[in-house]
Amino acid sequence: QIFMPLNFLGFVYREIRGSLTNIENLFTLLEQAPLIVDADNANELVVTHGEIRFENVCFSYHPERIIIEDLSFTIKPGTKVAVVGESGAGKSTLVKLLFRFYDPTKGAIYIDDQQINGVTQDSLRKHIGIVPQDTVLFNDTLYENIKYGRPDATEAEINQAIKLAHLHDFIARLPDKEQTQVGERGLKLSGGEKQRVAIARTILKRPPIMVFDEATSSLDSQSEQAILGALQEISKGHTSFVVAHRLSTIMDADNILVMSQGRIHEQGSHDELLAKNGFYKRLWTAQQQKLSTHEQLLLDRQAS
Ligand code: ATP
Repeated sequence: QIFMPLNFLGFVYREIRGSLTNIENLFTLLEQAPLIVDADNANELVVTHGEIRFENVCFSYHPERIIIEDLSFTIKPGTKVAVVGESGAGKSTLVKLLFRFYDPTKGAIYIDDQQINGVTQDSLRKHIGIVPQDTVLFNDTLYENIKYGRPDATEAEINQAIKLAHLHDFIARLPDKEQTQVGERGLKLSGGEKQRVAIARTILKRPPIMVFDEATSSLDSQSEQAILGALQEISKGHTSFVVAHRLSTIMDADNILVMSQGRIHEQGSHDELLAKNGFYKRLWTAQQQKLSTHEQLLLDRQAS
């Protein structure tokens, strides 16, 4: 008498958790403009190489204010492109356009030569992994939270993802290790730790295209180093697009787009941009100064 109802409850629990924990769907639910629908003859996106191309893209949330203005760039397969710029320049909007939460008002976005408004939204999002600014954790163990990236992953694969995401030292210090309960009713993780959980999930998912929307909050340099290491692991052989606030995390990018008021103001590698002595150089110098002041403050605090 009790087995069937319990079994049913178990099924309902798994279903609810399965739908709730789908981070991309959650992101979709929160962000998606209601008007975006699949074309009648939409095809499945086929990713062969993972090349992303923005071609003369213009976009406005409201007609009176242009947010993205005639933007063109290509991310070659397997390379890392970062976008930096002042707050409100339109960096996160580019990610929303790539996920097709909105359609460009002019121009087009292509993945492997397929225009993204001609493919199904499901197939588009299946091929893109995102490490968002704020990762949602569920009231479950840390292990289950990571496994969510690919529910059929083996224990060995999960342990490997934990290692690559630089979470092993953190886990080793927890009383119940990876079986520690997290979320609202469990252990609260810092912003950097949550991002590394998102990285571990994405390592398990292994999508051909990776988007990393870096948190604005400044991390201590130890957390930053851990994230940096994890990012290098994750982006190997994948096309990656990074919205960056801390320039130190994107020094290795193949191309850095410096945005200002919806346009690309400068672009190039870290060294090329420093040599240009322009906006990027000023941003870099300001961040380095802020960092050394912060480190000095920490040293002073330790000394007193
Ligand atoms: P930050 O570095 O602060 O995250 P950003 O460069 O990512 O900024 P976006 O989030 O792309 O900037 O926003 C670009 C502009 O579009 C901003 O002025 C913002 O206020 C506006 N904007 C963003 N989302 C919407 C929206 N849903 N509706 C209307 N305007 C929006």
